[in-house]
Amino acid sequence: MNGFAITVCAPSGAGKTTVCQALLRDSEELMFSVSATTRPKRAKERDGVDYRFVTRDEFQGMIERGELLEWAEVHGELYGTPRSNLEQAEREGKLLLLDIDVQGASQMVDSLPDTVTVFLLPPSFDVLMERLRGRGSENASWLERRMQTAKAELEELPSFQYVVVNDALEDTVAAIRAIVDAERQRPGRRLGELDKLRRELEDGLSG
Ligand code: 5GP
Repeated sequence: MNGFAITVCAPSGAGKTTVCQALLRDSEELMFSVSATTRPKRAKERDGVDYRFVTRDEFQGMIERGELLEWAEVHGELYGTPRSNLEQAEREGKLLLLDIDVQGASQMVDSLPDTVTVFLLPPSFDVLMERLRGRGSENASWLERRMQTAKAELEELPSFQYVVVNDALEDTVAAIRAIVDAERQRPGRRLGELDKLRRELEDGLSG
């Protein structure tokens, strides 16, 4: 099968990171795309696992050398997807799972047109606000900023291929797995693998 990338986007507070982690836990075929970022590391994060933490100069160098499939500035920090993540996934026969922002998703589609794009929605405004407030790291201006970003991101929903309402985690994971399974069956992704069977059927039918 040909490899492809799955991009999961959501407004801040829709539970995207939890969903991606749950997906990765029970899907051997998926590989998490570790982004490069200039933002400071948070307490529980590990360099090279959650993110590759780099300086602004290092990030700039990656842009100039064409090493990023996409990149964007989010809340004043730079985030980007190294091209090498995709190469590694292809080498390992895995599908690359990206947890990136909405601006990055449209660039991914430009760089790799067969990228699968999934938009996660929180189930209600109350749940969105509860999840945003529950993060504990925010003050009023932080919250206001995230709400503005969420509003702008929501406007991009129609440009995505799939939308999943993230209410119960296991249902969301099942829905995304179903999307991935269906996408794997697209003829364009399976042509090489199905050559032998097609030849046999064609030979038999013309014989
Ligand atoms: P956080 O700093 O909270 O981990 O992430 C902030 C936002 O940046 C989230 O929406 C996250 O999905 C997004 N993000 C993380 N990595 C990338 C990336 O490589 N590219 C883009 N465009 N956004 C990213």
